[in-house]
Amino acid sequence: MPESTPSAVINYDLHCHSTASDGLLSPDEVVRRAAGNGVDVLALTDHDDIAGLPLARATAAEVGIGFINGVEISAEWEGTLFHIVGLDFDADNAALNAGLDNISSGRSERAGRMAAELAKAGIPGTLEGALRFAENPKLISRAHFARYLVECGVCRDVRSVFETYLVPGKPGYVDHRWASLGDAIDWIVGAGGIAVVAHPGRYRVSPRDLRRFLADFKTLGGTAVEVVSGSHTPDHVGQFARLARDFGFLASRGSDFHGPEESFTDLGKMSSLPAGVSPVWEKFR
Ligand code: AMP
Ligand code: MN
Ligand code: MN
Ligand code: MN
Repeated sequence: MPESTPSAVINYDLHCHSTASDGLLSPDEVVRRAAGNGVDVLALTDHDDIAGLPLARATAAEVGIGFINGVEISAEWEGTLFHIVGLDFDADNAALNAGLDNISSGRSERAGRMAAELAKAGIPGTLEGALRFAENPKLISRAHFARYLVECGVCRDVRSVFETYLVPGKPGYVDHRWASLGDAIDWIVGAGGIAVVAHPGRYRVSPRDLRRFLADFKTLGGTAVEVVSGSHTPDHVGQFARLARDFGFLASRGSDFHGPEESFTDLGKMSSLPAGVSPVWEKFR
């Protein structure tokens, strides 16, 4: 007879956003919603900013779920923008904080250039409009511009704003210097954390370039990839589980939740990690 009933699978959600970047809910609302959805351990991973972590951590303690420090860093590799999630780092680390400050200060300047380009394309006033949607103005994002352009009727939804205005080759897209891949990994690993490739299924690179990217990521000190992501299809999950095994990467799982109206996948509502991969949480402190 078994001595105890096997415990249910622990529900980890290690990728989501709050109003500290481009999410729609405040850090405490995100944590309460996660707990309500059955998440046992949550990481809040705002873009290029960790200001939401203290409130999220305090709320997690209050509602009785586990909490892991997180961030999603915008990093460039061979001219393409990748997102690198950092998990389980020391949030007081000076180099990490200085690096993040550096990227976020660049966002305001970029937003000004985006607004100027959109004005040339016949849409004035978008900086002021986007800022109304940004609770943390330092972290002004394309997502805030998209919400404003929907509100003023230029496009019917956020997705079509991106397709029409905000991706490379479109009038509201401007180049920007983000972190280098090496810097992003150094900041995370230097603060005692784990560097994870966010949603590898979303990058528009060839399979060959993706493998070159993953090889560089590993050489630079990255150790994990998101196998289960809110933006992955079942095919992606199989593909990235295989790549994780080939490269010896740990596997992560996260919804990439931004808000109830904007995200396909709610907090904690993703499939489980497939068999045969090593979960990233086995390395948490
Ligand atoms: P930024 O960090 O300012 O470049 O903005 C990128 C953010 O915009 C991403 O983190 C997503 O939240 C959002 N985003 C990017 N592409 C799309 C898309 N095609 N549809 C909807 N949201 C998008
Ligand atoms: Mn986002
Ligand atoms: Mn991302
Ligand atoms: Mn994200």
